[in-house]
Amino acid sequence: MPLVPMRQILDEAAKGGYGVGAFNVNNMEQIQAIMQAANDTNSPVIIQASRGALKYSKMIYLKKLMEAAVEEYPHIPVALHLDHGNSVETCKMAIDLGFTSVMMDGSLAEDGKTPNSYEKNVEVTRAVVELAHPLGVTVEGELGCLGGIEDGHGAGLSDEAVKDHLTDPAQAEDFVKQTGVDALAVAIGTSHGAYKSGRKDPKTGEVLPPTLAMDRIHEIHKRMPHCHMVMHGSSSVPQELVDIINKYGGKMPGTFGIPIEQIQDGIKHGVRKINVDTDSRLAITGAIRKVFAEQPEKFDPRDYLKPAREAAYQVYLARMKAFGQAGHAGDYKPMTLDEIKTIYR
Ligand SMILES: [Zn+2]
Repeated sequence: MPLVPMRQILDEAAKGGYGVGAFNVNNMEQIQAIMQAANDTNSPVIIQASRGALKYSKMIYLKKLMEAAVEEYPHIPVALHLDHGNSVETCKMAIDLGFTSVMMDGSLAEDGKTPNSYEKNVEVTRAVVELAHPLGVTVEGELGCLGGIEDGHGAGLSDEAVKDHLTDPAQAEDFVKQTGVDALAVAIGTSHGAYKSGRKDPKTGEVLPPTLAMDRIHEIHKRMPHCHMVMHGSSSVPQELVDIINKYGGKMPGTFGIPIEQIQDGIKHGVRKINVDTDSRLAITGAIRKVFAEQPEKFDPRDYLKPAREAAYQVYLARMKAFGQAGHAGDYKPMTLDEIKTIYR
């Protein structure tokens, strides 16, 4: 099976009332762990690479690893998605490389830091849609700005500033109409990375969970019941994974993630793609630290990369079950980019 257009995976998820995890990858172990989990749960899946991941993997390696993934598991629908494309050129490069979906993040300027004007966001996003749809490639846009910085990408907004950059539901409706995007990333108070909250209890100084504006999702879904929404920065940052890291010499105090229940509430209201990166990073790092601490005599990379891959697998497995995509890989006949082209026309 070739890579599937992400649009079809999201359309089918909407029909089935479930969400699909979009997992970030940089290397072979992550791709293998995702595919193994998708196979074991019979899940359609979205694999995504950021600009940083493409640079790290020198692009061609990532492409070939993905070819191997679909060859090994021909019965699993997989979309390959560019995460946070910063320009029309970057999106075009990913499309040329064989990605079946791209994100044009026009919420930020090309530097990946400065918030864009609404008009500029519409302009660059529409340009990517005009480029991608004739080729059958899916486009995700973003309206509003998320907190945090990941891989050098993000406005680095404070908790207070994030509140001023939440997605406005009326503007979202206009944005989707004007750009023709297939999926809309919404800003509801989530942040990239492992530190999703700057809120502290004034008495104890303890970090409190981030507050999410779930009502924005409910409102957008009411206005546009057929719009596929995307939740970014949606790792749950499980305390037990952070504890393993800290137990074996790591230093990650004050982490906070997005509770699975809130993601599931989003899925009930039109969220179809859930971006998860940090959780697999935590699992991998914890597993490696554990081997290093407990078996300092080991020096074969396989001795720690194998447990790392297994730890990441457990994360993917749990998310696929929690998001509801498990069991749905065989529900439909995957489309090719050529087939979906005709629908866009
Ligand atoms: Zn993101």
